Amino acid sequence: AYMNGITCICDNGRTLEDHRPIVGDDVISGIYRKAVALQGKRVLHVNSTYQSGGVAEMILSLVPLMNDVGVKTQWNILTGEGDFFTITKNFHNALQGQPIAFSDMERGLYLQTNECFSGQMAIDHDLVVVHDPQPLPLIRFYQKTQPWVWRCHVDLSNPDPALWEFLKGFVLDYDRMVISHDQYRRCGMPMEQRIIRPAIDPLSEKNRDLSEAEIQDLLTQYNVPIDKPLITQISRFDKWKDPEGVVDVFIEVKKHVDCRLILCGSMAPDDPEGWEIYRRVEEKARPYIETGDVILITAEDHLLVNALQRVSCVILQKSLREGFGLTVTEGLWKGRPVIASRVGGIPLQIEDGETGFLLDPTDTDGFAWRIRQVLENPELGERLGRAGKEHVRKHFLITRLLTDYLEMLHAELN
Ligand code: UDP
Repeated sequence: AYMNGITCICDNGRTLEDHRPIVGDDVISGIYRKAVALQGKRVLHVNSTYQSGGVAEMILSLVPLMNDVGVKTQWNILTGEGDFFTITKNFHNALQGQPIAFSDMERGLYLQTNECFSGQMAIDHDLVVVHDPQPLPLIRFYQKTQPWVWRCHVDLSNPDPALWEFLKGFVLDYDRMVISHDQYRRCGMPMEQRIIRPAIDPLSEKNRDLSEAEIQDLLTQYNVPIDKPLITQISRFDKWKDPEGVVDVFIEVKKHVDCRLILCGSMAPDDPEGWEIYRRVEEKARPYIETGDVILITAEDHLLVNALQRVSCVILQKSLREGFGLTVTEGLWKGRPVIASRVGGIPLQIEDGETGFLLDPTDTDGFAWRIRQVLENPELGERLGRAGKEHVRKHFLITRLLTDYLEMLHAELN
């Protein structure tokens, strides 16, 4: 993918046909049939660069498939200054329930960045999809001649009331809201709130099959030994992902089983919070880091994430809050046992005891107990992993996301 001005050109060379061996004939044929009445329709996606990686990745995989089935789809990315992203990061945290105070100046900059961006972008598409709060106010700066959809990927179940009141003012201009989970529905919204669950691309670098040699190379490159069982959490160093809590769990497990912990979280250069949390984790895990039993990785490398997920005996996701938890989906797709918090979208993916294990996010002992159980019974892990993979194949692959988008287009355009 590369940028042409504000437009992301993302032809990854993959077509719908490439997904046929993975999902089967019926799914592919269903998609072609849904696309018939939408040939030549033009759709615009807008998001912003610094929002969490998962969203951008989904759009990156979705856009080429939409184009492949005949819907002309463009992706524009809002750019802004650092201050803008500090404000929207605070918005993001506050939408997830953290109290916030925001000034008139901040509101002003939020609007001004959007207005400025609107000056760079003409819109004459048949449908506009705006992702998350960063570009939400854009709609104010256009003469609207088509349906607009606000696609919110954030957990909206308990937002800061004053912030929601402010943002709602923009949301009301939209024709439809799309959320990831039934529990994120906002009451009192006059427009339909459609649920579209996120998905992963089984053919992306992060999820495609890797050869033994590729895995070995990556582990060597990043100095990851596999002489002991690996427990892994792939997540930004973010308080909601609770990396410090993961270290507590590891310390408990380590009393009984010799194993290693990997915390892999790439670091956005503009995220001071990330480094602060990283240092706290480092402090807590210091003795284990010195012996090499805790490994912290801050590199951004999709193939590495893929390899780590494949070689881990347990994948953890001990989030305190979670919009959906794509890392859970990715871990399940690798056929690994995933042990995770019963929050946000995670229970949609994990049925406790069937496709993984669910725990209360603060239940350190419970996490440690489940990890030990899986480490001590590899067959249990294999069984959970196999079931988890089939669950993802059915519900959380990009072909299902494409199907949902085509259905939404039908609803909006016909
Ligand atoms: N991710 C990554 N490298 C990292 C940490 C995370 O590529 O070091 C990816 C991860 O594989 C997943 C996405 O970032 O695809 C995170 O999505 P998720 O829904 O789990 O959480 P978010 O970061 O959006 O809150």
